[in-house]
Amino acid sequence: MKRQGNLLVVSGPSGSGKSSLCRELLKRAPRLGLAVSHTTRKIRPGEVDGEDYCFLERAEFEKGILEGAYLEYAEVHGNFYGTPLKEVERLNARGVDVILEIDVQGGLQVREKLSDVILIFVVPPTFPILEERLRGRATDSEEVIQKRIQNALGEIAKIPRYDFLLVNDEFEDAVRDLGKIISSERKRVSHLNLEEVFSSIQIPLK
Ligand code: ADP
Ligand code: 5GP
Repeated sequence: MKRQGNLLVVSGPSGSGKSSLCRELLKRAPRLGLAVSHTTRKIRPGEVDGEDYCFLERAEFEKGILEGAYLEYAEVHGNFYGTPLKEVERLNARGVDVILEIDVQGGLQVREKLSDVILIFVVPPTFPILEERLRGRATDSEEVIQKRIQNALGEIAKIPRYDFLLVNDEFEDAVRDLGKIISSERKRVSHLNLEEVFSSIQIPLK
């Protein structure tokens, strides 16, 4: 897949604040797009089909897997989630940096396929705060909350395979830090079109 912008993965335990951080940054930062994933999980109150996720039946998702429709997919907390290749291509065609807000299994699959992907891991300041945030979000049953906390331990063990670690303590600080990572990556020489750069700095020719 030929890309114009950077591809960024944001992962972290459920409740660490990935979704809040990415959505806030999308409002503030130009040239950024968030890929809408497919999932077989049930829609939550307040979610919009096609905006938060595309909600699919399991059979439809499995058909997509067989057809090679996903850049990556994984089973998370008992449901399938996947990034449609078409969605990444659509955003890429707009020339924006593309954020995938996906779990660790998915993040590592993307790294296998596209080695220059930037992997960012979000953690809460403490586990008790993670539990508090999951309860405060009031979207999941106690059983689901306990499952998500258990899964968090396995995800955190994969931090060494990520590029950046972001502690989401004060929300404003974390949004700013995420923005800084993304803007710094845009300045990597290997990611720049040097012909354009040289032309725009008007090198004096004798
Ligand atoms: P994730 O997408 O990682 O599952 P969310 O973005 O849904 O997490 O955040 C979980 C809950 O924590 C939400 O209710 C959100 O408003 C809250 N939250 C996120 N970041 C912070 C923060 N820095 N301080 C306090 N609450 C936060
Ligand atoms: P939730 O059900 O809370 O929206 O998401 C549960 C988990 O699934 C989160 O860790 C989220 O990042 C992950 N997830 C969301 N979309 C995708 C995806 O397309 N692929 C993978 N692998 N994980 C995803």
